[in-house]
Amino acid sequence: MMQSVDETTFSLTGVSKDYPTPRGPLTVLADVSLSLRAGDAVAVTGPSGSGKSTLLYIAGALESPTRGDVSLDGINPHRIAEKDAAAFRNEKIGFVFQDHCLLPQCTALENVLIPTLVSSHSRDYRKRARELLEQVGLADRVDHLPGELSGGEKQRVALARALVRRPRLLLCDEPTGNLDEASAGMVADLLLGLDARKDLMLIAVTHSSTLAARFPRRYELRHATLQPAGA
Ligand code: ADP
Ligand code: MG
Repeated sequence: MMQSVDETTFSLTGVSKDYPTPRGPLTVLADVSLSLRAGDAVAVTGPSGSGKSTLLYIAGALESPTRGDVSLDGINPHRIAEKDAAAFRNEKIGFVFQDHCLLPQCTALENVLIPTLVSSHSRDYRKRARELLEQVGLADRVDHLPGELSGGEKQRVALARALVRRPRLLLCDEPTGNLDEASAGMVADLLLGLDARKDLMLIAVTHSSTLAARFPRRYELRHATLQPAGA
């Protein structure tokens, strides 16, 4: 049976991005399309400057495309009011960046709870936050400050924070970029072995071929276009 379009829960359709420069527009993405269903995990590789972060930020509605459409569960976050888009992002999308971006004065547990502070149910999240920290192997680090954690541990806190509101889409920008091989392997194991994986769509952009090789679906950004890796 043919798969119906409705099954696709995240898509980029004909997405292009031009940045204006003094020498004319710089085309970073040209007609990029990609679609994911729940449970999909996609890696996008490409050298530095190839547009990986741009692609991810457009997917996460942190940056708007010059042309093309983004759709998550039937909604285009670029076509709704900014305040609704912020709420949509907070509820539906989790981000993990290369730099963990933890607040230094807050404990691991408090950092994980940050995305829930705007929710009217924020108290209900404490148990979940603890469970997530346990899931990423940090049950005995909940009260540590970021300065008391290793790089790999900080990134695992960032992962727990990205998951606390049960996002539909998890976007990771060089999630292992600052980690040694062992910590990078552990973060990759966690990403791909998450309890929530079957309900989640995961996109990681990375220049690491080791990380990308772990993903069931792989693409390469080359000359502003997205091609299946190895093609
Ligand atoms: P990657 O994440 O693969 O290293 P980026 O998406 O960050 O690549 O950047 C892709 C290209 O777009 C780079 O050449 C970069 O210089 C350029 N670029 C990124 N942001 C801007 C901007 N705001 N204005 C102009 N050029 C930009
Ligand atoms: Mg980047």
